[in-house]
Amino acid sequence: MKGWIVVAGLGPGAEALVTPEVSAILAAATDVIGYIPYVARVPDREGLVKHASDNRVELDRARHALELAASGRRVVVVSSGDPGVFAMASAVFEAMEAGPADWRELDLRVLPGITAMLAAAAAVGAPLGHDFCAINLSDNLKPLDLVLKRLRLAIEGDFAMGFYNPRSRSRPGQFDRVLEVLREGCEPERLVVLARAVSTPEQSVTVLPLADLRAEMVDMRTMVILGSSLTRRVGRFVYTPRSA
Ligand code: SAH
Repeated sequence: MKGWIVVAGLGPGAEALVTPEVSAILAAATDVIGYIPYVARVPDREGLVKHASDNRVELDRARHALELAASGRRVVVVSSGDPGVFAMASAVFEAMEAGPADWRELDLRVLPGITAMLAAAAAVGAPLGHDFCAINLSDNLKPLDLVLKRLRLAIEGDFAMGFYNPRSRSRPGQFDRVLEVLREGCEPERLVVLARAVSTPEQSVTVLPLADLRAEMVDMRTMVILGSSLTRRVGRFVYTPRSA
């Protein structure tokens, strides 16, 4: 049997937002591997082996997936959203780079998914309708000073922004530092969207001015979208015009 490895995105939560391409590859797999809650989203079936692991072991998981594929298994590595956005695809390539040369010849593909930022934007209108950027606020893999520097420069560039991993229990004070930088650089009326658990039954979407934003309003299931200086409300929607 010839093995392969696919790194696939499961979308933000709703079954309807899993692409047909990803559903088809899951049906062909012998092994699914990923973070516990994402592997749980793949239905059980005869002949499918599920390898669920904790969030902090991404490189081990990537190595394990490559080893399985090299031994002839048909492996799908699952991420939520898109696998290339702060997720497993880069971890797999890192493991490939550090691993044996024959891993580079493996049959490997990356299948895109709907990333949380785009699902969150759609839930509220079109806040990313002009230039925007995405920033991972977690300092697990980079120093907080770098996060804050990128924020300052993106504010200077007047980008709308999507913030992933905004606040975890292990880094409680960090979002306050982010808030300080936002308040220094943006006017108090700047629109903020808090989109939590988008596309799941627990979805909630809140729009508020930056002046009202508090760290306690945000958790790890929240996508934060900060508008540009032109982002505004129309009726119950939020949008950014296409010209600046
Ligand atoms: N690869 C994923 C992102 C992983 S980082 C993607 O492309 O979406 C995890 C962060 O994504 C969370 O902390 C949260 O900020 C965001 N996120 C993921 N799913 C979400 C959802 N359904 N609703 C809101 N935010 C979500």
